[in-house]
Amino acid sequence: MPLDYHSLLMAFALSGCGLAITFFVSWLASRTERFLIAWTFGVAFMALGVLVYSWYARTMSPAVGAAGYTILLAGLAFVFGAGREFRTGILPWRSMAIMATASSLVMAVPMLAGYNGAAIVMLNAAATIILLITAWDYWLGRAEARLAIPLLTALYVLTGLSFVPCAILLLQDGEWRLSQAPSNWAEDLNIVVCLITLSGIGALSLALNQARLARSHKRDAETDPLTGLLNRRALLSRIAGDIKGPAALVVFDMDHFKTTNDVHGHPAGDDVLRSFGKILALSCRSQGLAARLGGEEFALLLPGASLVTAAKLADGVRKRLAKRHFSGDGGAFTSTTSAGVAYSADVVIDFDALLRDADKALYAAKRAGRDQVAVSADDTEFLAHSWPSQDGRRDAADLVRLKAG
Ligand code: GH3
Ligand code: MG
Ligand code: MG
Repeated sequence: MPLDYHSLLMAFALSGCGLAITFFVSWLASRTERFLIAWTFGVAFMALGVLVYSWYARTMSPAVGAAGYTILLAGLAFVFGAGREFRTGILPWRSMAIMATASSLVMAVPMLAGYNGAAIVMLNAAATIILLITAWDYWLGRAEARLAIPLLTALYVLTGLSFVPCAILLLQDGEWRLSQAPSNWAEDLNIVVCLITLSGIGALSLALNQARLARSHKRDAETDPLTGLLNRRALLSRIAGDIKGPAALVVFDMDHFKTTNDVHGHPAGDDVLRSFGKILALSCRSQGLAARLGGEEFALLLPGASLVTAAKLADGVRKRLAKRHFSGDGGAFTSTTSAGVAYSADVVIDFDALLRDADKALYAAKRAGRDQVAVSADDTEFLAHSWPSQDGRRDAADLVRLKAG
C-alpha cells in the first residue's frame, strides 16, 4: 500500500517522539552525558515542527507555516549542538542561537509577507547547510570511532542533500506564492530519506555514547585515582595480554613514608605520591608501563630493556624525586625512594617470579641504607662487565649487586 505524504510526515513525527524519549531516558541513566539533552530537544523540536508543518499544509496559514518551520530549524540547531557537545563536551549555545535565528528570519520574513514559495526554498537551503555543518563536525571527531562516525557523517550528508531537490524544483517553477504546499517527487524523497536516516542517526549516536561510556568505565577500573597511573590489576592484565618478554621490572617503595605522613600529614604524603607518579610516567613514556602497585609502591615494566638499562632508568627516577621539594605540616621536606630491578629473558613473562626477584632487590636496597637502586641477577660477571664503574659515592652505592637467592 503506497503511503501518502501526510502519513509519512506523521510517521516522522512519531518516530522523532520515540527517539526523543529514548534520548531522555538514556540521559536519566547517565546524567554526565549532557549532549543527550540537546539531542532530546533537537528531535522533539523536529517532530513538533513537522506536525505543525503538516497542519500548515492543510490550512496554508502563513503564521502556522512560519511557526512550524521555525520549530524545525530550532530542532536542527539543537541536533548540530548535540553533535558538537558530543565531540568537544561544550554546548555551542551562541552558534546554535545564531543558526536558529538567522535561518528562521530568512524563512519567516517571506513567509509572513505572503511569499511562501521563497520561504520554503530558504527552509530547504538552511536545512541543507545546518546538516552539512553537523556532518563536518562529526567528521572532525572521526578518530574516536573509525567506522561509526564516518557512517554518521554520511547519514547527515545524505539527509542534508535530500533537501536540495526540493529547493531546485521550486526555483525551476519560479512560483513564489503557492496556493498549496509543494507536492512532488522531491518532497516524497526528502521525507522518506529523513525517516530512514533519523532512526539510523539515532541508533548510531546512542551506540557511540555507549561505547564511550564503556571505554571510560574500563579506564576508571584500570587507573589509580591518586596518580593517574595504571593500577596493579591493569598492569597484570596488560602483561597477560600482548606484552612479551624479555623484560625488566623495577619496583619502587618510598623511604620512611610512615614518618613522612606522621610529620607532614597525609595530604603532603599524597603530594609526594602524585609527584612521583608524574616522574614515573615521564620516565617511561614510550618504553614501558608505569603502575601504582598499591600504597607507596610503584612498578615500571620495561619490555625489551636490559637489566642495566632498567637500573639506569630507575636511578634517574630516584634522583629526580630526591631533587623535588615538598611542604607539609612540619615545613619543607624532600622524599626518597628505593628501587629493586629484576630481569627475565623468557618470552612469556612470569610476573610473580619477576616481582619476587625485584622485591628481593628492593629489600636489599632498603637494607643497604635506602635512596638507592639494587639489581637482582644470577650473573654478577655480566653485571660487573656491563655496568661501567662510576666515580662518587652516590652512583657507586646506587647499585647493590645481588646474587639471586
Ligand atoms: P620503608 O622505608 O621501610 O619503606 O618505610 P615506610 O615507612 O615507607 O614503611 P612502609 O612501606 O611499610 O609504609 C607504608 C606507608 O605508606 C604506610 C601508609 O601510611 C603510607 N601510605 C600508603 N598509601 C598511602 C597513600 O595513598 N597516601 C599517603 N599519604 N600515604 C600512604
Ligand atoms: Mg611499602
Ligand atoms: Mg616504604
